[in-house]
Amino acid sequence: MTSLYGFTQEGLEAWLGERGHRKFHAMQAWESLYRKRVRDFAGMEAAGVKPEVARLLEESYAIGTLEEHTRQESVDGTVKFLFRLQDGNLIETVLMKHKFGLSVCVTTQVGCNIGCSFCASGLLAKSRDLTAGEIAEQIMRVQLFLDDAGQGQRVSHIVVMGIGEPFDNYAHLMDFLAIVQHPKGLAIGPRHITVSTSGLTAKIRDFADSGVPANLAVSLHAPNDELRTRIMKINKAYPIAKLLDSIDYYLERTRRRITLEYILLADVNDRREEAQQLAELVRSRPQLLKLANVNLIPYNPVDEHSQYRRSAQDAIDGFYDVLKKNGVSVSVRLEHGADIDAACGQLRSKQLRGGEGKEPAAAGV
Ligand code: SAH
Ligand code: SF4
Repeated sequence: MTSLYGFTQEGLEAWLGERGHRKFHAMQAWESLYRKRVRDFAGMEAAGVKPEVARLLEESYAIGTLEEHTRQESVDGTVKFLFRLQDGNLIETVLMKHKFGLSVCVTTQVGCNIGCSFCASGLLAKSRDLTAGEIAEQIMRVQLFLDDAGQGQRVSHIVVMGIGEPFDNYAHLMDFLAIVQHPKGLAIGPRHITVSTSGLTAKIRDFADSGVPANLAVSLHAPNDELRTRIMKINKAYPIAKLLDSIDYYLERTRRRITLEYILLADVNDRREEAQQLAELVRSRPQLLKLANVNLIPYNPVDEHSQYRRSAQDAIDGFYDVLKKNGVSVSVRLEHGADIDAACGQLRSKQLRGGEGKEPAAAGV
């Protein structure tokens, strides 16, 4: 069955319109899903949706298609959900608590084809893209979990940093963004949403042109091509100069701030020399210097990538200082859920042969 959560509001209106139902009834169905958060079609009718409309939807759609497989809660309030997709694949979604609100990290693909050398998600080649409904339902399931806790808490922020490369699933990503932002639905403002990409330059330009004012984060991770290619093979196709050109285009079009993510790998890219080069790279492009924040990400060790170690605290501090002294805006990413492997790069999509079938786990936060 296809998930109802995959419809944008306009899509639902069009589908019902073709079957003779008025816009008003489509909006009632939409609001019942995202505002009243009904869990089944009986609930939809009870919420005041025209019975004929509810029954019509029930014939062709399921309200959701994810099945909760496991859920782990961290001492710091982070909750990691493992969901089973209809085809048996497992994906992960993470809820994080911050001072500013509650954020959810979503997965966009089963596996990832970019294959960065430090990332657990890339260990398994992508087997498929998630649908917009499967991405949106991750947010809904976390929201329903919060509803059940009865404290009136709302998902306020989204980071698209789970398993997968969101710009390699662009159309579904854009529908997902439209669904969660809709003011009569979850109404999560685009300024509270961050999409992270490994740097697919054509899609960075498309995203700039789309006019969707969500935040963009780009995984840079190295200040020169030789090093970046070594740790991210995608750099061969999209080297740094090309990437920075697309970022310049994005900044020109949107005038929005941008995040440059930089994972710190001990003795690989975390020395003062690289910090200095990174500062120079940022300073070489005036818009970047004005609008970019470098987010330093302490590496979370991944068993299979034993060639990397986490940077020592003084290396992290030293790297930070060099950027700061050069006038580059910089921050260090706080970790969440380290005790339940819910941090960046520890989410993974792993298939076990035999046994339960497909066993996974998943992405980056
Ligand atoms: N594919 C996208 C989004 C998912 S990864 C991208 O690469 O940007 C989200 C973030 O987690 C990226 O910045 C990624 O580099 C980071 N990450 C991956 N593995 C990590 C690890 N082991 N430790 C820390 N961060 C990691
Ligand atoms: Fe894919 Fe991002 Fe992991 Fe690279 S860091 S393998 S792009 S999920």
